[in-house]
Amino acid sequence: MDEWENIRNRIKRLRPFAKFIEIIHSRDAIQVDLGLGDGFYLAALYDEQIDANMISIKQGRILVQNTYLSSFAYNLFSCWLYGYNYASGFRDLDKLMVYNFKKFLGEQLYRKADRARSRALLLETLLFEQSMMAKIVATRDRNPAFSAAATGAENLMSFALLMHELGHYFETYKPEMWDAIAMREDGAIGAFYEAAVLDLDPAIALEFKCDVYAIAACIQGYTDRTDYILRLRTIVFAYAMYAALYSAAATAAETAKLWAEEPPDEIDLLDIAPFEHMEYGVKWAVDKPLIVRAGMVRTFCEKIAACQGESLYGEDGILPLPPSIVEDIVGYVGKAFDCDDDNIRNISNLVARSLHGHDAGMEYLFLRSKVFLSKRKLVIEK
Ligand SMILES: [Zn+2]
Repeated sequence: MDEWENIRNRIKRLRPFAKFIEIIHSRDAIQVDLGLGDGFYLAALYDEQIDANMISIKQGRILVQNTYLSSFAYNLFSCWLYGYNYASGFRDLDKLMVYNFKKFLGEQLYRKADRARSRALLLETLLFEQSMMAKIVATRDRNPAFSAAATGAENLMSFALLMHELGHYFETYKPEMWDAIAMREDGAIGAFYEAAVLDLDPAIALEFKCDVYAIAACIQGYTDRTDYILRLRTIVFAYAMYAALYSAAATAAETAKLWAEEPPDEIDLLDIAPFEHMEYGVKWAVDKPLIVRAGMVRTFCEKIAACQGESLYGEDGILPLPPSIVEDIVGYVGKAFDCDDDNIRNISNLVARSLHGHDAGMEYLFLRSKVFLSKRKLVIEK
């Protein structure tokens, strides 16, 4: 078994549902000499499992870049852009954000608990996708500025995640890298970091330090004031969104545990009598450490912007950012089980019940929903 096959098998064991795995080594990916020593493997993949982005194995370390997360980041960012710049009102924006979190939560829940309830939640999002996301995809297709802004933000948001993981690598193997980071922006980065972590739990302080590595990497090489503020806003938006996505994943995990204590679904496909109203029985959970970090990243970026005499927040530009961004975005998750259309809820419930015991059909629907509006031809590994 060669080096690559070995790494691939290891990833497959840890992430059984991972698809589109592509592995490279840092020596082939990073041209600048960062003195990384033996370096690390970089695995791009698509997986609903969003934790464990740094894997240690005998042969070294594997940094995982999960395109599942970046595809949600891309869509949520596009919704935000659309809501502020192209939609008729904020009701549209709220709906779009809630539905994207519903899709994420539905997928997380379905992977952890294949019940009529999780299938119904996913089906609701399919019905919404055609009616609402179609507008966004169409706008993105015909408006090059929109498309470029969304793609630029997607790149920056996944780059931030990767740089965070690289921060861990530096902290372990090359801690002297920090000195150069801390001196950036006339030493302000180091001073802000020291002040921010004074009374912090050491584990969260380390995570935040790696966030600062990510922020510093994201804001270097900016071209002008607009670009600088856009980058800072994108980072804050990204952290707010990741805090919300990880909270949704935590809610899915807790809810699946709660459902596991209940008896299995009993659905008689020959019984056409009216069925009872479906109760979801949700157990809400939040990723508190990540929410704390998102708040710290916000304050941090606010201070860096102020250093330059700029304000981080504002309604101006392509990416408006309110000071309440973290609370606003995390708040959308709390509405993910709501549905204001009884017809959609009832039909989804009915179809979800009809898929009872038909795993292959549901899996087809699940995978097909990911390329619903896409022109890509994706081949799923068997
Ligand atoms: Zn970390």
